[in-house]
Amino acid sequence: MKATLRVDDISAGYGRVLAVKNLSLSAAAGEVVSILGRNGAGKTTTLLSVSGLVKPRSGRVSVDGTSLRLGRPHAASKAGLIQVPEDRALFTGLTVRENLAAAGARRKADLTMVTDLFPELEPLIGRRAGLLSGGEQQMLALARAITLRPKVLLVDEMSLGLAPVVCQRLSSVIRGLADESGVAVLLVEQHLSLALEVADRGIVLHKGSVAMEGTRAELTAKRHEIESSYMGGA
Ligand code: ATP
Repeated sequence: MKATLRVDDISAGYGRVLAVKNLSLSAAAGEVVSILGRNGAGKTTTLLSVSGLVKPRSGRVSVDGTSLRLGRPHAASKAGLIQVPEDRALFTGLTVRENLAAAGARRKADLTMVTDLFPELEPLIGRRAGLLSGGEQQMLALARAITLRPKVLLVDEMSLGLAPVVCQRLSSVIRGLADESGVAVLLVEQHLSLALEVADRGIVLHKGSVAMEGTRAELTAKRHEIESSYMGGA
């Protein structure tokens, strides 16, 4: 399968901390790839390296075969790499509609796309984002990213603090986006079962390096090992 996103041998960090070491991964159109691992394993740094918010010290990131200049978030988003940030980064004082408009989604077609994907947001369109529940805020953050028509969607800790039913809802939207629109998705996830449910493949990070990778079936077969060695507490 031809990769939409290709990450080759990147190393990235902060000051003296090398958070990601010689990491490679790829994601094809329509493929959901989970990035697993415990706190501090380097998952967020991997996503930030791809979206250009962190500049890797070495390596290569390419979209459809074209290399991007590293550490350039604007160039990355122009190339179709769109990140849903871990903290959702909504304007809490603005309404749902205004949050979408601020991201550039001003046309009726954009709003229709959002309410088709998330009918839950339709009655909330005039409500301030700060008054939404955690799940609704995550839907809005995801909707906003989707209106930017990503080639590659980068989702960080989507399920953090949300009820299982909301996580299911969000992951089914992500699966649908991959299946129906051919979006490639990199999904950072702490919940192994959720990740294995939605992803086609996964990589398990440990101390900044890939400790394990495989298809959903391969990782599901090794789930106990992943859980005991690479997830959960330190
Ligand atoms: P989490 O689930 O906690 O976000 P993670 O797997 O996403 O964990 P990263 O956030 O990528 O891991 O962190 C990897 C390493 O880099 C950790 O050792 C962390 O302490 C360090 N680190 C992350 N952000 C910074 C920063 N801004 N400055 C210094 N060190 C950082």
